Amino acid sequence: MLTKTKIYLSSPHMGGSERKFVADAFDTNWVAPLGPNVDGFENDLKNYLGNEKYVAALSSGTAAIHLALELLNVSKGDEVLCQSFTFSASANPILYLGATPIFIDSEADTWNMCPELLEIAIKDRLEKNNKPKAIIAVHLYGMPYKANEINAIAKKYDIPVVEDSAEALGSTYFDKLCGTLSDIGILSFNGNKIITTSGGGALITSSRALKDKAVFLSTQARDNAPHYEHSSVGYNYRMSNVLAGIGRGQMEVLDERVCARRKNYNFYKTNLSKYKNIEFLEEPQGFFSNRWITCIKTDSYALREKLRLALLQDDIESRPLWKPMHMQPVFNGYLHFTNGISEDLFEKGLCLPSGSNLSEGDLNRVLNIITKTLIYDK
Ligand SMILES: *Cc1c(COP(=O)(O)O)cnc(C)c1O
Repeated sequence: MLTKTKIYLSSPHMGGSERKFVADAFDTNWVAPLGPNVDGFENDLKNYLGNEKYVAALSSGTAAIHLALELLNVSKGDEVLCQSFTFSASANPILYLGATPIFIDSEADTWNMCPELLEIAIKDRLEKNNKPKAIIAVHLYGMPYKANEINAIAKKYDIPVVEDSAEALGSTYFDKLCGTLSDIGILSFNGNKIITTSGGGALITSSRALKDKAVFLSTQARDNAPHYEHSSVGYNYRMSNVLAGIGRGQMEVLDERVCARRKNYNFYKTNLSKYKNIEFLEEPQGFFSNRWITCIKTDSYALREKLRLALLQDDIESRPLWKPMHMQPVFNGYLHFTNGISEDLFEKGLCLPSGSNLSEGDLNRVLNIITKTLIYDK
């Protein structure tokens, strides 16, 4: 019997030259959280993102968000406004610092932070004499958030923005790359992201001093002395030189990966948009998504579950959209400004297999299951 292989939501996709860079690390014995691959990977990212930017390679995207908040002097008791519709890693670092998250719902055009709700929340906090210390906005599933609107509000009230671009490397907003649109951007190179170092992240800033401070904090905050001298709390958050080697290889194929993911989206959309009970998230004018994950919104929880379970039956991984942070038990009791949009997406939305390594056969297998389920559903 021919056994079918499992189809994953988003799995690592090596380009070929990763092994060479990793072998270099072994050959030169730079098996450490510093070395030529770390410098090289940072340089590759800098060249890609624009030379006015500075990049610190770190151990994860979560570490990058933690350091970003620390660089913005977020500390105990401060309030931080955070997109509710996201992965928990966007919000957890707020708690690491003893600060208080306040969650902001999404708008319908991009599924990301709603600018109107953001301003309502800021006004509310100012009335209570609690000026928020930072805003964390997220380009979810690769779709840029409305950066002009968010940045204008942030500027009006003088609150810095941390741009969670973990899912959006390669996406652009009016021709500017995601990760470079705000005060501090972050990237993730986790195994499921558009490119990977198996685990890793980066912090992006326009300030050389901030980059240097991020590297200082990520390497245990050692002061300049012959012995180990510390006047601030440090972290062990630097990227390994072995893993940075994987990143250098992955940077060579980033553009191809974006093309492949966008092709997946177009395949699903072309073949499924005739069904009235399925919706896709279109790109607004000027928005370019890397289409990290193709998401659909069905017209009911029942249909979403039918599709998910039918796919699972055929050993195909799919997943409900992110459960909003304001609904998560761990964030129970924190203030939130909501409009029903993220709750509706969580109820009816499904992430489809979206890896850049899916074959035409894989995509057709997924499509067949979905089509059969939709026809049977009528
Ligand atoms: C993956 C991800 C992160 C965290 O990145 P890690 O490298 O896994 O720590 C943060 N935010 C979002 C939106 C993510 O998808």
